[in-house]
Amino acid sequence: MLNKKIKKLLIGTNNRGKLKEIRDLLPKNIKTFSLSGLKIKSPKENGKNFSQNSLIKSKYYSKKTGLICLADDSGLEIDLLKKRPGIFSARWGGKNSNFSKAIKKIFRELNKKDKNWKNKKIKARFVCALSLSFLNKKIICVVGKVEGTISPEPKGNNGFGYDPIFILKNKKKTFGEMKPSQKYKLDHRYIAFKKIKKFL
Ligand code: IMP
Repeated sequence: MLNKKIKKLLIGTNNRGKLKEIRDLLPKNIKTFSLSGLKIKSPKENGKNFSQNSLIKSKYYSKKTGLICLADDSGLEIDLLKKRPGIFSARWGGKNSNFSKAIKKIFRELNKKDKNWKNKKIKARFVCALSLSFLNKKIICVVGKVEGTISPEPKGNNGFGYDPIFILKNKKKTFGEMKPSQKYKLDHRYIAFKKIKKFL
C-alpha cells in the first residue's frame, strides 16, 4: 500500500488558506479530498512541537476516513517572544481565529518587551511540519522554515493569518502584499513540500 504512488489524498486541515495553498502545490494527478462536509471534529493538538502536532492530525484524520492523509502544522516563531506564538499560532487568534486580534496581541507583547521594537529588526520565522500518514502509521514527516522579520505595521490584504506582518529575509514586501502565486513559491510550506514530494 505505502510503496504505491498515491492516487487519493485527504488534506487534513480546516484552514481554507492552507487548503488552497496545499492544493495548488500538489501534483494534479492526485485526487484530493478536504474535510469540508465531513463533520469530523478537530483532534487535540497537544504535541510539543510542529512535527508532533502534524502527525497527530494526519493519523487522526486518516483513521477517521480510511484515506492517506496529508496534514500540516505551522506557525510563526518570534525570537523576542521566546519563539511565541509558535505552536500556539492558531490559538492566538481566539476561538474564531481572528487574526487582526492575534496580530494586535503580538504587537502588545513586543511593546512589553521593547518599546522601541518598531525601529529594530525583530527576527522571526515561519515553520511548517508536513506529514503523511495512513491510519496509525507515519509515512513521512518533514519540516520547512523561512527566516524573516516582523513588519512594524500590518501590510497587504493577501494570504491569511500572520502574512501581513511577516517580511521574508532580503525582501521588502510582507507576505500579505505579495501575490499568492509569488508567496507560495517562497514560503515554509513550499520548502516542506519539496522535501515530501517524492513520497507522493
Ligand atoms: P495550525 O497549523 O492549523 O495549528 O495553525 C497554524 C497557524 O499559523 C495558522 O492559523 C496561521 O495563523 C499561522 N500560519 C501558518 N502558516 C502561515 C502562513 O503561511 N501565513 C500566515 N500565517 C500562517
